[in-house]
Amino acid sequence: MMRSNNKEADHSEKVLNGAIGCPGIVIGQTCIYKRRKPTVSSTRVADDGIPHQVDKFHQARKKAKKELQHLLGAGPDEDSVDLINTQIEMLKDPELCERVEQQISEHNQSADSAIHNVFGDYLEAIKQNHREDFLERSVDIADVRDRLIQIIHNHDDEIAAGSIMVAKELSPREVIAFSNQDIKGIVMDRGGTTSHAAIIARSMNIPTIVGVKKATRIIKAEDEVIIDGLNGDVIVHPTEKNKEKYRELIEQQVQISGDDEAVCSQPNRTADDHPFVLRANIEFPEELTSVEKYKAEGIGLLRTESSYLRESQFREEEHQEKFYSTILKATDPHPVIIRLFDAGGDKLFKESSKEQNPFLGWRGIRMLLDSPDLLDNQLRAILAAAGKHKQRVRILIPMISTPKQLHRIKERIETLQHELEEKGRETDPDVQVGIMVEVPNVALQARLFAREADFLSIGTNDLTQYVLAVDRGHEQISSLYEQRHPAIWQLINMVAQAGIEENTPVSVCGELASDPISACCLLGLGINELSMNPLILPKVKKMLCNRKLTDMQAFAKDLLEADTVDDINTLFLNWKESTNNT
Ligand code: PEP
Ligand code: MG
Repeated sequence: MMRSNNKEADHSEKVLNGAIGCPGIVIGQTCIYKRRKPTVSSTRVADDGIPHQVDKFHQARKKAKKELQHLLGAGPDEDSVDLINTQIEMLKDPELCERVEQQISEHNQSADSAIHNVFGDYLEAIKQNHREDFLERSVDIADVRDRLIQIIHNHDDEIAAGSIMVAKELSPREVIAFSNQDIKGIVMDRGGTTSHAAIIARSMNIPTIVGVKKATRIIKAEDEVIIDGLNGDVIVHPTEKNKEKYRELIEQQVQISGDDEAVCSQPNRTADDHPFVLRANIEFPEELTSVEKYKAEGIGLLRTESSYLRESQFREEEHQEKFYSTILKATDPHPVIIRLFDAGGDKLFKESSKEQNPFLGWRGIRMLLDSPDLLDNQLRAILAAAGKHKQRVRILIPMISTPKQLHRIKERIETLQHELEEKGRETDPDVQVGIMVEVPNVALQARLFAREADFLSIGTNDLTQYVLAVDRGHEQISSLYEQRHPAIWQLINMVAQAGIEENTPVSVCGELASDPISACCLLGLGINELSMNPLILPKVKKMLCNRKLTDMQAFAKDLLEADTVDDINTLFLNWKESTNNT
């Protein structure tokens, strides 16, 4: 993963440009990441190479064991302790060791291939036994297998804590894994600002620039760079003068964050005294500090699939219940909108398979309805947590495109509530069930869906990608990906109207709500519940508090008459200028 510096390289300052994945400024040294294919070697090992392969296996085993013991030392919860101990026992199992050694020495297999085969046999054996706990056990076993293979593949790789990761592209899972290794910035050749990798980087508050086209060709390992996440620049080999300038900017940022707290202690009211609601979009408990600091009125979108990508034992019911309870406790008395796993697309679960068009494929509700264990575990965990925090939990379904999908989830919820009650568990009869509006037909048929759902949450990130047929993470066509497109405003207006006519609350949780001027338009269209990354909340709030609702309504009316993105941009510019004069 690390490459040595070319001594002859040009060390003059260069500025590369991209799009802002997560704002913020950092100065640091780079580390280059190259994704390795998760394949195992099929090459036959020569007889004299056998001892080396056996040694590689035992070294990997020791390292994996040490990592797990380290995790135990960090004081995890009871369930995690059990899981970690089971995995340690697996690594110590003499029979398993013997079988891997045998595969290497008798079949001349490489260490990774031997591990893959022996663990494969274990998985097959428990599957054949039809054990009830097959799914959970197989996840744990596969976890140990993957870690061992990963250690063998990345034999010489170490990512220095505090470095700036430079990569062609990172998947959401990789961003989560690297944030656990304490990286302080990310630069990617590819990706757009609303790609899931960028959204997770924002959740982790790791300054990130995406779509820096030749980053991995120009930047070498251990180069000094500045990430300017305010302008979307990456400065390679910065001059002393520039470093000084950016150090001052970092200090100013700390100051601004202090002002943000003051803004957030004001009530949520427009200049003409109309109330609005701002909630937080979060993925991880670490974000709860910002939720509290910036006074978000609860959670508007809890992206649960990110926790699953972070740790596979998250799929266990008790584990999830604890997680939901932590979020509910920290945000009392506000509502928490928990979105069911939105797996698929670029967020791959164990169940996911390779698809030609993953964003149009087996994603969100489509996968959940085909995966009853995954769905039931999650619903039971949410319902149990809701029973302890009455009238606060709202369940949000991703990628809905038919009313039937919503009916099936509602039926499942009813059955599981009964089962919980029979077991003497407390439940909440008022749990609301809403849907994401992100597939275009749902926006076009908004009245039908508004009659069926308890609430509608507009996901402008996917709605834009599906309406305009532009991959949200594709840097080459990113200029076509425009959430402020007139067609999007018209669809949002249709959903807002449907909500009013059917008396069904409508909110926006896509990135459009994080743009202060767009937020004014949304209020102008009658949507007064918005949710966003909590770090952005003060900026949006400042704009909404400074302007009158009547002006926002007039502004929204003009927007709906616009034909092109250029017309919209002109209207936005005028609004900005008029705001500066207030
Ligand atoms: C959206 O699509 O707008 C949304 C909020 O969901 P996600 O970004 O997680 O796909
Ligand atoms: Mg979405």
